[in-house]
Amino acid sequence: MNAIEVSGLTKSYGDVHAVRGVDLTIATGEIFALLGPNGAGKTTIVEILEGFRMRDAGQVRVLGFDPHDEGNAARQWRNRIGIVLQSTSDSGDLTVIETIEHFSGYYSNPRNVEEVINSVGLDEKAGSLIRNLSGGQRRRLDVALGIIGNPELLFLDEPTTGFDPEARRSFWALIEKLRGNGTTILLTTHYLDEAEALADRVGVINDGKIIEVSTPAELGGRSTAQALVSWRDGAEIKSLATDNPTSLVSKLTAQFNGEIPELTVTRPSLEDIYLTMIGITHE
Ligand code: ATP
Repeated sequence: MNAIEVSGLTKSYGDVHAVRGVDLTIATGEIFALLGPNGAGKTTIVEILEGFRMRDAGQVRVLGFDPHDEGNAARQWRNRIGIVLQSTSDSGDLTVIETIEHFSGYYSNPRNVEEVINSVGLDEKAGSLIRNLSGGQRRRLDVALGIIGNPELLFLDEPTTGFDPEARRSFWALIEKLRGNGTTILLTTHYLDEAEALADRVGVINDGKIIEVSTPAELGGRSTAQALVSWRDGAEIKSLATDNPTSLVSKLTAQFNGEIPELTVTRPSLEDIYLTMIGITHE
């Protein structure tokens, strides 16, 4: 069974066509990253799936449920999903532990509060008031509130914005742990290395339309892209794009009779591929 099924989804704000006919299927247990420039429509899609925004047209099923529907079934459905929004409301006068305990009361099968605090690296700040947290620490609290309900499906909208590199790595480890538990995750991010590290598949969206859905390794023909071999030849740096970098390097080895000066062999990064896909080329 699929966790998320979307077809023909559209949404406009006045004359801004934010989402223009999106089809998307996310399997149960999958980690899926939605990539795209500012204003591409990512948050709009995610918030429609979360039931926070109305769609204009299209079919949407999230854990078999239409987020439009209300009533008892909607409450049960909400109990099964976790949400980390792009920006969260303020509850500055409560401590970290009070806030998480409070939120845990909304769920029928919450995770252990101390364990959650530990898993987002906020042990030392458990007794601190929210308003005294740094930006990155607040974001960690947002993530804690997203996972406290032990969700089957977790939405993460730019979860690591403002994290220092160490916090990002420990967040990645947390996501790996959730993957191990079978949690389905839909993530939006502007960090291509994050998408590459975490996602089973990525979807690139631009101007309200999905351009491609693929694995990070294969996106935009990346796995078959030419390698760029470069080396120093006297005063000059030479470079050559090739399908056979190994044979080129062998030839150069023979030519230089050993070590090839300043040799590098590179293939396009996910970021290179992504920027090309959304129409940004750079020399
Ligand atoms: P970002 O990476 O900057 O978060 P995004 O891909 O999440 O961007 P959205 O927030 O979905 O993009 O916005 C898509 C388009 O819809 C943008 O042009 C935005 O200005 C517009 N938009 C979003 N929310 C509203 C709203 N509530 N009212 C009017 N226009 C909106």
